[in-house]
Amino acid sequence: MTGSVESYMRRCTLCPRNCGADRMAGRMGYCGAPARITAARAALHMWEEPCISGEKGSGAVFFSGCSLGCVYCQNYRISGGSLGKEISEEQLCEIFLRLQDEDGAANINLVTAGHYVPQICLALERARSRGLSIPVVYNSSGYEKPQTLQMLDGLVDIYLPDFKYMDGGLAKAFSKAPDYPERAMEALACMVRQAPVCRFDADGYMTAGVIVRHLILPGHVKNSKAVLSYLYETYGDSIYISIMNQYTPVADFPDHPELNRKVTEREYERVLDYALSIGIENAFIQEGDTASESFIPPFDCQGV
Ligand code: SF4
Repeated sequence: MTGSVESYMRRCTLCPRNCGADRMAGRMGYCGAPARITAARAALHMWEEPCISGEKGSGAVFFSGCSLGCVYCQNYRISGGSLGKEISEEQLCEIFLRLQDEDGAANINLVTAGHYVPQICLALERARSRGLSIPVVYNSSGYEKPQTLQMLDGLVDIYLPDFKYMDGGLAKAFSKAPDYPERAMEALACMVRQAPVCRFDADGYMTAGVIVRHLILPGHVKNSKAVLSYLYETYGDSIYISIMNQYTPVADFPDHPELNRKVTEREYERVLDYALSIGIENAFIQEGDTASESFIPPFDCQGV
């Protein structure tokens, strides 16, 4: 981190939106985040990949606001930024330590944290000096700037980014981010540079590395294949890929009627068959009827 938290908040360019919002003056940019850390939940989360949640649970801190803002957002209750509780860096540090020492979390899981990276760095540094020793997971939409991710170098052990689109048209239509493919490629390259080797402990929990998630969207198998192809051609077996079929419609989408349904079994099979056919082995897949809202926890400020 080259400047103070205030300097980053004074003219915010933390994410590819580059709003320049003066968050210190109470203005909000595209992400809807104020200058102070705002979080809607800090508790054990059991629904991440098995090597992240395991039986202990992942110590997930869900931050409010989001710089991507997909129309189909599964966490729409908090992504707008208005729901949540403001906390200081010291309070966030104490939350990290409580998740480790009292709740027995396998890791600290920073969910959609990109718009608070400078504050989170301070909280993590403080927590490390006070005994935080479990891995730190950075759980992201993938729409990030390398300059911001660079601040996390040495503080984050595991990157867990989405890679949503290779099709800029879809990224524009669903997330108002036609540059998503390029930004996500740059961000992922930075993450892999910081965590180039996947490591696991004796109990199967991941301790370092990168898992890229891809949420299949109904009606868009072609986009999914393009994403998987890019990931495997670029990174081979050095990363893990999590292929997710849990898309759940959260609203009515008159402009995108295909989003009004879940992913069919046939669509999921086509994507999995493709993954196998190109040689992907380091993959997590979801079994059975996982397309349910049970993955979405209550955002009631528990633990914040
Ligand atoms: S983090 Fe928020 S305020 Fe900052 S540039 Fe991105 S969208 Fe704008």
